[in-house]
Amino acid sequence: MNIAFDNSYARLPPAFYQRQSPDPVGAPSLIVLNHELAAALGLDVEFLSSADGLNWLAGNRVLAGSEPLAMAYAGHQFGHFVPQLGDGRALLVGEVIDGNGQRRDLHMKGSGPTPFSRGGDGRASIGPVVREYLASEAMAALGVPTTRALAAVATGETVFRQQPEPGGILWRAAAGHVRVGTFEYFARRGQLEALRALADHVIARHYPDLAEADNPALALFDVVIDRTAALVAHWMSIGFIHGVMNTDNTSVAGETIDYGPFGFLDSFDPNTCYSSIDRHGRYAWQRQPTIAHWNLARLGECLLPLIDDDPQRALEHANSKLEAFPRRYQNHFNPRLTAKIGLDARTPEHIALALDLLERMHRQQADFTLTFRRLAELDPRSGRDDAAVRELFVDPDDFDAWAIEWRARLAVENRERNQFRAALQRVNPAFILRNHLAQRVADAAVERLDFEPLHTLLAVLARPYNDQPEHAELARPPRPEERVTETFCGT
Ligand code: AMP
Ligand code: MG
Repeated sequence: MNIAFDNSYARLPPAFYQRQSPDPVGAPSLIVLNHELAAALGLDVEFLSSADGLNWLAGNRVLAGSEPLAMAYAGHQFGHFVPQLGDGRALLVGEVIDGNGQRRDLHMKGSGPTPFSRGGDGRASIGPVVREYLASEAMAALGVPTTRALAAVATGETVFRQQPEPGGILWRAAAGHVRVGTFEYFARRGQLEALRALADHVIARHYPDLAEADNPALALFDVVIDRTAALVAHWMSIGFIHGVMNTDNTSVAGETIDYGPFGFLDSFDPNTCYSSIDRHGRYAWQRQPTIAHWNLARLGECLLPLIDDDPQRALEHANSKLEAFPRRYQNHFNPRLTAKIGLDARTPEHIALALDLLERMHRQQADFTLTFRRLAELDPRSGRDDAAVRELFVDPDDFDAWAIEWRARLAVENRERNQFRAALQRVNPAFILRNHLAQRVADAAVERLDFEPLHTLLAVLARPYNDQPEHAELARPPRPEERVTETFCGT
């Protein structure tokens, strides 16, 4: 089998990575292969489905042209700088150009120890592999920029976490794997030439137009600020909580990356934070824009010497970009938010109205996803039958009071009912990867090597904006006894 690898990262100076082959595994089997993605990447699905293909996916053979390597990076974890992280259980296997001419990384997680493993085993358990697979594909179907899941493999070996668990490998495709932490790695070491090479690489790969800018490093900072603002606004609008927004988990390509203890909102509480390792709620739902801003400040610090030789001027330039983040974030978030109630963001009252609904949802523990989804079912002109939404509120009167104001605004807009319904259904998903579902699917995989629930859920989450009445069970909020209050990094 030939894959037309073209490995631009492997052509960067040796300080950027350590070459490393995957460690073979004993008795691999394929859990799931993403046929559609494989085809889009120009990969041969037949090969990937074959015994030879499985051996490759398991890390038991390396294909010609692949130059597997572990990327070096640093990062701020929960606010504290760690000078040396890097791919400790993952490898960049190679890069391919997809059907759209886009360069994509093929990346393998759970491939065995690397020089960056820091005492870890370099492996992954099937539970987190299944969770990342589900999350990547759910997010992609929701329209959120994200790394994609290409395949999951069971290694046939055991990994030891809290208890023995079956081992797994996740293959993902990404626009790139350069993180804010990659810049920090070189900046903190004072390796200016490497830093410059990294910035050039990122510009050439992700933002080629910027090569012609007056100040490419400043332009790079600017575009990453905008992509990150857009990404986090998107997360917020669908109730996604990343869980570990450390700078090493922040891609400069504007994609969601590194799904660990992520979660989706069920009943709305802006302080929701599921991650077991996030004791103080640093990465809670409503803190995500602030944290993104903070992470971008760390990127800005790294870029200073590339922005201007004069440190004072460099700082002024960078700050002027960074200061614009909150406004940029609002510019991305507000239209997404008001669209959820069928209005536009040009009128400040519409934004206030949407925020007011969120407050009432919080007070009344209303389900985030279903409240918005069911607004589409209501008559924009009459509140006579609002039961579908009212029943989501502990005290439905709180919704009624809001709905009066809402209908008054809708009347001004004078929207036709079918058009209104379609518009709301396009932005408010019926299906999200609810935490109890992810847990149920991961448990079946870990405990029984049963991947049937995974396949069923993947198929439903591939069409999140479609009502799928036969799968109503997968749209409903968790019952009290099903509620997941904690998610784990689970490596
Ligand atoms: P993450 O939780 O994916 O953000 O990982 C943080 C750091 O820990 C990265 O440098 C990972 O490569 C490393 N790491 C996580 N799990 C393992 C593992 N099982 N073995 C070796 N390194 C790991
Ligand atoms: Mg990570």
